[in-house]
Amino acid sequence: MNAKSGARERLELVRESLIELSHRIHAHPELGFEEERASSWLCESLTEAGFSVEKGICDLPTAFLARAGSGPLNIGICAEYDCLPDIGHACGHNIIAASAIGAAVAAAKVADEIGLTITVIGTPAEEVGNASGKILELEGGAFDGIHAAMMVHPAPFDMLRAKIIAASMFDIHYAGKESHASAFPELGVNAADALTVAQTALGLLRQHIRPTDRIHGIVTNGGSAPNVVPARTSARYMIRSETLGQLAELRPRVHRCFEAGALGTGATLQLVGGDKPYAEMHHDHAMAEFYRRNSEALGRPFPDLGEWETRPTVSTDMGNVSLALPSIHPMIGINSLPAVNHQPEFAAHCITADADKALADGALAMAWTCVDLATDREIRDRLINRQ
Ligand SMILES: [Zn+2]
Ligand SMILES: [Zn+2]
Repeated sequence: MNAKSGARERLELVRESLIELSHRIHAHPELGFEEERASSWLCESLTEAGFSVEKGICDLPTAFLARAGSGPLNIGICAEYDCLPDIGHACGHNIIAASAIGAAVAAAKVADEIGLTITVIGTPAEEVGNASGKILELEGGAFDGIHAAMMVHPAPFDMLRAKIIAASMFDIHYAGKESHASAFPELGVNAADALTVAQTALGLLRQHIRPTDRIHGIVTNGGSAPNVVPARTSARYMIRSETLGQLAELRPRVHRCFEAGALGTGATLQLVGGDKPYAEMHHDHAMAEFYRRNSEALGRPFPDLGEWETRPTVSTDMGNVSLALPSIHPMIGINSLPAVNHQPEFAAHCITADADKALADGALAMAWTCVDLATDREIRDRLINRQ
């Protein structure tokens, strides 16, 4: 219990600066892989707290690793800090970033006395949907030597083990031929029609996919003028399934719908991306139970949420981390309902008093979970000896 008190005292000392950091990141939203300021601010905070910091790891300028303590058990805390296009921090990654710093600083205070090393992994570009920060960092070895990983993610309400599903994002480009849409339509090849055929095919496909599959997208280029037959159109789509295995079954069926658009119109099709999908999340049961008890001790119970417990929700590259090492990804409530993630109203909620409290509670619950992992002989041995 002493280590937990020490962590709490340390967190109280930095609480106000964490909130200020969260609000600063929120006020300066940066897209994935462009998080220059956010990553610099986080590295500065960690350097100030005595961490050794390496910025620009894995050839990613906004990725970083920060380390404190020298114990044999190495726990990773993931910090995300990218925003969404147009709607800023509508996923609350400012809260993720600040809570990660808080957790790491608080746990680092007691790390050496409980045989712990704390590593903060600065993971850019969670929202990009393909070949994201954590995926590239896993490939680049940033998680090597780390025994377990965790982060908290803001949500309308607390949820210990959200059903996080696999996802893939890719771009579709059709190329046809321009022509005068009224005078010489027979000379054109209509790339916008190709998209329409594809969307119709996708609409029909929905009857024959799993109820837990998701297909959603936007047209990013629908043509330039109504009197010119569109020669170039583009779209960006995401597909999701409960597992990477199911996603691999869905992918070719969706691709065929886009091929149908090309076949029907004579346009040519190019599919780009989707090669590094997000995996489903495997919550480590024992880690999650420690987190549950720590969250409850802070007055944050996890009530039965009915269908929310089994309903497919978001996707995250933390899923890929969870396939590589024991991990948890609890959702921390910011009391935002009816506003939910990816709405401008949610972005506004991410700097409220409830959001600031979630940030501090999430940080301390994670720090205490680190203490538990280091001091519970059974799980400590399991994490260190895992192959
Ligand atoms: Zn998001
Ligand atoms: Zn998010």
